[in-house]
Amino acid sequence: MIRFFPLLLLLCACTPSVPPDWPLPQWRVHGAPVVYEAATLPAHASAQIRGGICFVSWDPDRWDTLAPSVRVFIIAHEIAHCELASAPLSPHAAEYAADCRAVQWMHRAGYLSASWLATLCAAIMDWPGSATHPSGPDRVMNILECAP
Ligand SMILES: [Zn+2]
Repeated sequence: MIRFFPLLLLLCACTPSVPPDWPLPQWRVHGAPVVYEAATLPAHASAQIRGGICFVSWDPDRWDTLAPSVRVFIIAHEIAHCELASAPLSPHAAEYAADCRAVQWMHRAGYLSASWLATLCAAIMDWPGSATHPSGPDRVMNILECAP
């Protein structure tokens, strides 16, 4: 069993995984399937394009503490960053655009019920703002304007 452990690790590192409860595992960006991976930074989610492929990462330890609507939103938001990567946007404008696209995708996929939207907005209200991210209340205002 121990002899096969390194091979198992290699397989785990190379195989794209899908976050738990992710409803849309076949998501593609610019024709290539999105690759999901665990984040190395705690309480962090991010997106990065490498070799033309969108890599989305998240903190698996924090994942279990999030409501399903927040999980779906975070992944959709990060995928939106991949799609918007070439758009000349300021950091805050990029966040607003990714938030807007995420809730519109969630709506089209049937994942934006009134209760999911309420849970999502309640969670985002507490998110702090920064030089790169608008404050939670500002993001909620934007989301409510974008939500169909
Ligand atoms: Zn973002």
